Amino acid sequence: MTRGLLETSLEQIIREAVRAEFASIFEAKVKPLLATAPTATPPLLERANDATKSRTTKATKGPASFIAKSCNGKLSPVNLVPTQCGDKPGRPRPVPRAPFVCSTYVSIEATCPATCAFKKETGCYVRAGATKRLSGDLDAAAKGLTADEVIRFEVQLIDKKYKTGVPQDGGRRGRDGRDLRLHVGGDITNDGQAGLLGAAAWRWRARGGGLVWTFTHSWRTVRRSAWGPDISVLASVERAEDIELARQQGYASAIVVDNFPSTKAFYLPGTTAKIIPCPAETGNRTCVECRLCLNSERRLARNTAIAFEAHGPGRSEVLVQLRRAKAGGRGAP
Ligand code: SF4
Repeated sequence: MTRGLLETSLEQIIREAVRAEFASIFEAKVKPLLATAPTATPPLLERANDATKSRTTKATKGPASFIAKSCNGKLSPVNLVPTQCGDKPGRPRPVPRAPFVCSTYVSIEATCPATCAFKKETGCYVRAGATKRLSGDLDAAAKGLTADEVIRFEVQLIDKKYKTGVPQDGGRRGRDGRDLRLHVGGDITNDGQAGLLGAAAWRWRARGGGLVWTFTHSWRTVRRSAWGPDISVLASVERAEDIELARQQGYASAIVVDNFPSTKAFYLPGTTAKIIPCPAETGNRTCVECRLCLNSERRLARNTAIAFEAHGPGRSEVLVQLRRAKAGGRGAP
């Protein structure tokens, strides 16, 4: 058997194992959450709207937000349109163009694990730059809500969208169902929340949606199979050694590094994984075109991890946290 065939078979085996285990996790962890879920008049929505009465932006009406066409130029292509700020040129505004990608954001304060160093300190890229205001609004709306409630709210947003079919202007060529990136900001904290999203991803796909993908800092405590087979999920790690630990938990990884040695794949001491610099950071590709993170089973079967360079307005703080994580012998999140 060739190496390619072997990897394809391994990918299938991993996917089937996730599918098989998801069924029992769904029974044990997700059904109890569903049993307490709001039905006709969701009290959760009322509470969320109360919380946001004084601070509501167009995009945010609760502790989670669904963006139908992402204007994050890393996820999918955008045109930069010139703007005016008084009589001076303003910052160019990103306007999405096909192929489109949908995305969600949830309150970081309510859903990111307390162990994430970037949550406690500065350095979280979602809490800076263009998404700072959105992130603050989601946190304000989540005051008094549990992570379970926030994720349930997010699931409601996904389920409400495109009831008659997800638009077919996404995918690599712009002719397939739109892919969905969960948690550009935010995370989950337990198996039940992962399972709720896993079921929502299944319904998204059943409505003609494309692939659903995300990253998690909770890989130590949330089982990979709890996400189900319809979400591609990568463990967010800061130390090369954690790629090995995450693999033992069933996760492929994404690692933040100081700098890429070059634009080519590389190896780091402490892991056997081949590490691929994110093409959105080394070239002109977007996630919808690249799709490496949209198939975590393939990454696991091929023992490849994705690398991101510390970037954005919080880069210096990210580097401090990375050094602390390496010196402390444990990944920051
Ligand atoms: S590796 Fe590809 S899919 Fe993953 S974040 Fe980078 S561009 Fe997106």
